[in-house]
Formats: sequence, C-alpha cells, structure tokens
Amino acid sequence: MPKFIFVIGGVMSGIGKGITTSSIARLLKDRGFRVTCVKIDPYLNVDAGTMNPIEHGEVFVTEDGMECDQDIGNYERFLGENILKTNYMTSGSVYLSVINRERGLMYKGKCVETVPHIPEEIIKRLNIAAQKNKADFVLVEVGGTVGEYQNLVYFEAARMLHLKNPKNVLFVLVSYLPIPQKIGEMKTKPTQYAVRSLNSAGIQPDIIIARSHVSLDNLRKIKLSTFCNVGHKDIISAPDADNIYQVPLNFKKDKLDLIILEKFGLKEKKNDFSMWARMVRNAEKAKKEVKIGIVGKYFGTGKFSLGDAYISVIEAIKHASWNLSRKPKILWLDAEDYEKDLNKMKRELTEVDGIVIPGGFGSRGVEGKIKAIKYARENKKPFLGLCYGMQLAVVEFSRNKAGMKGAQTTEINPSTKYPVIDIMAEQKEKIASFKLGGTMRLGAFLCQIKKDSIASRAYGKKEISERHRHRYELNNNLKNILESKGLVISGVNPQSGLAEIVELRDHPFFVGTQFHPEFKSRPLEPHPLFKEFIKATIKVNERGKKKKN
Ligand code: GLN
Repeated sequence: MPKFIFVIGGVMSGIGKGITTSSIARLLKDRGFRVTCVKIDPYLNVDAGTMNPIEHGEVFVTEDGMECDQDIGNYERFLGENILKTNYMTSGSVYLSVINRERGLMYKGKCVETVPHIPEEIIKRLNIAAQKNKADFVLVEVGGTVGEYQNLVYFEAARMLHLKNPKNVLFVLVSYLPIPQKIGEMKTKPTQYAVRSLNSAGIQPDIIIARSHVSLDNLRKIKLSTFCNVGHKDIISAPDADNIYQVPLNFKKDKLDLIILEKFGLKEKKNDFSMWARMVRNAEKAKKEVKIGIVGKYFGTGKFSLGDAYISVIEAIKHASWNLSRKPKILWLDAEDYEKDLNKMKRELTEVDGIVIPGGFGSRGVEGKIKAIKYARENKKPFLGLCYGMQLAVVEFSRNKAGMKGAQTTEINPSTKYPVIDIMAEQKEKIASFKLGGTMRLGAFLCQIKKDSIASRAYGKKEISERHRHRYELNNNLKNILESKGLVISGVNPQSGLAEIVELRDHPFFVGTQFHPEFKSRPLEPHPLFKEFIKATIKVNERGKKKKN
C-alpha cells in the first residue's frame, strides 16, 4: 500500500507549497524510495491550457501532452523524472468524468451527489497515479488555501482516504507567519486559524512547515505546537531561500525526511544526497555573471511584475548557467515597449549577453519581438527562440533576408502574401468548430537533426524527442526559398516532415525551436540547447572584452 502525503496551504497562496512538495519528494527519493507527486487544481477549467499565463503562470506540458500547472514542472525538476497525465487533476476534469459516467447510466439509477461521488473519483485517480508510478510515496499537493470553498471536496477525499488507511496517510500544512512591519514580531495567529479551519474539515495536520521571511524561534514553535496540536519537532522552520533548490537542504537540516519515515514506521533504504548538495554548492559558488534578456509579454499583474509565466525558461537558463559556473542574471524585457521605443530596445539589448524569445500567442508585442530578433541577428547576439520565438525568427528572416515584404504568421494575418508560418492542416477544423481545449499539437515528438549544425553539436545525437504546444508551423511550401536564402532547417520531424529547428550559419548562436526545450531542463541535467546557448554568450562576451582591452 503506497503512502499518501497531502500538502495543504494555510493563510495565503504563493508561499511555496509546490517547492515544499517537490523538496519532500526529493528527500524521500534520496532515501531510496519511489516517489511521485500529484497536483490538484480546484478550478473548473478541465486543464490549464485554456488559461492566460498572467492568470495562473506558465502552462507546463507533460511528455504525454497534458497542459497543466507549473508545479508539475517543479516536480519534474526536483525529482529528475517525467510526471505524466495521471498526476494532474482539476475540478473540471473530475466533475467531467463523474458527469460522463452519469450520462452513461453507470451509477445505475442512483442520485449522483457531490459527496461521496466526487471524492470517490478523486481517490480513484490518486490510486491510479500511485499504481502507474509504482510509488512508495505519493505526495498530493492541493491547490489553493484552507478555508476556500473550492478545495473542500479534496479535503473530504483526503479525510476519507485517511479514515480507511490511517497509517498510510499524512497531512502537511504549509502555512505563513507574517511579520507586520509596524509590530516587528512574527505572528502565529493566522496559522492557528488555518489549523482550526482544517480541523473543521476533519483533518489534523501532522507536520507544519512554517513559512516566513526569517526562521521561526523556539517561542513561536512552542506556541504553534500548543495551539495547533502538533509535536514541537514536527514544526519545521522554512525561511525565505535565495535559491529554491536550497529548500531540500534546509528541510534535511531539520530532519524532515526522517520525521516522515518515522511517522510511517519506515526505515531508510539509502541515504545519498550528495548530487543535489553538490549542485546547490556549485550554484552558490558561481560568481561571474551572464546576463540574459527574456523578451516577452506576460509579465504584468497590476503594479507588480511576475516571472511565473516563463518559469521553465528561467529555470532552464539557471541550470545551464550554473553548470557552466556562471551566475545568471535574467532581465524581463517587455516586447510591447520595443514597438514604440527603439532606443529603449537598443539600450536594453546592448546590455545583455544573450536574448531569449519565449512562447506566446496572439498579436500583442509581436512586432516588438520581431525587432528584437532583427537586433540579435544583425548584432550577432546569441539568440534562442522558443516556439513562437522560432516562428517569429522565421518571419523576421523572411521579411528582411528573403525579400518577402509583409511576411507574417497566419495566426496574426490570415491573408498575408507570404504565410511563412501557417496553421497545421489538422488544426484548421478544430479552430473552426471551437474545439480549443487540449487540441494543439501537444507533448513529445521525435526530431531528426542535421549533421554539422549547432543543434547536432549541442545534442550530440541524430534523433531527439522534445515537447510541443502549438497550432502553427513553418510553411513547407516556402521552405525551399527560405533555405536558398540561408535559413538552415536543422531539425525535422521524421513522420510529418514539420520543421522543428531553424538556425543561421554566419552567427555565433542563432537557433529557434518549434518545441519547448525548457520543459526538459533539470538542475542535475541542464538542457543541451540551453547549455550551448549560454556557452555562446560566454564566448561572445569574453571576445568582446578582449577587443575592448
Ligand atoms: N502561437 C503559436 C502557435 O500556436 C506558438 C505557440 C507557443 O509559443 N507555444 O503555433
């Protein structure tokens, strides 16, 4: 029987439930267990694919083509393993299964009710995830915060699972302890309320992860322990960390992994944390900077700026930089500004060592991105275009190097004279009939790599597999003209003939990929293309410095 650990949030969102879940998973893996993580999102969208990244951060894509929450990306990065569709559910998908079953008369005339039928479906899915992953441990992160209306059915499922298997279910509350500026003292009361709220759902936390700006002192530990009914040693202090990959080390210092094993009455099978610790040490040691500009558009939320929409790209840049002993400095550059202010663009892009244009949809900021690509091409700045970034690099090349004035992707101008990026045939119908959820070209596809290309140097392989999420592609009818003008198509899908990688020769590093390499980068295994890109930025930068001297 697998052990289930529910990770639940208290007081407010955004305090690192995903990182806590991933860190516990890593620790248990390094103690020799098979671990997997499940994410539950309580909203009614059937998957995360129909949401704007500004709403909910990046849409992560699994190998088997599920569009899901960015936390799945954290699990993959911390565990160093692929997480599949079975490990993600939203209320939309849960209700849809139950309703479809009801339409098929599968409840045999019974009244179908929120409780128990919805929690039963949730438990069924958790068991499937456990079986498919042959897991000793299943960490289940429940989205949202205690006290919200939306996640109650998940607490009900957790309570029911616990009732049947009290020895195999554990509850971890990740809660926040504010330090109001005027008072200057860490406050435990909101967490006490969170525990009461959880209690009223029939759940008593076994462990509290106390998130705050600084470490928890003993006085507050005693308070939390007394009022929340949790053992003193089971309250783990989790101060803000500079680097998320540091968090497992912090937990380990407080013996969180051993506490969990003890609660389940288990003994460790091995204890090897050295690889992870070495990676964190290398990251801390890297002092020489590499400056990467991400030119995008999903940054703003009100008066605040968030990198969440591009989290996998940001992490991939970090992994590759640390691996090459560099400290990454990432600048978020707003493509829309570049449409109006070319000087601003020049000022900002001169500053950076390399430029990344990430994925995207629609017309906002597109012309700004195209300008940035032109700048990268002409000024020989290392450039990496991801999905939309690759498509727009093809548009830029067509317009400015292949004499196709007005070239465009048909996503923006369906009647352009030069549709260099065009809708994939099978996607046309889907758009016309508004079948838009989960219908893009999704998940892993093969790609054959051309000899003597940047891609072949980076991967060192003839065939690779990468993850996709798009409806448009390079128009193969115009491929010959583009190639004759110098565009190198260095990666092609062997089944469909779709262009997957484009690059330029007379440039230190100019690569665009139709896929999203960022989804497969891990701190212990940086992605080869990101590594090659960072290598190029280091080389160009050092050559530049020599010239100045
Ligand atoms: N909008 C483009 C397409 O659908 C690119 C998608 C992306 O960047 N993920 O093809």
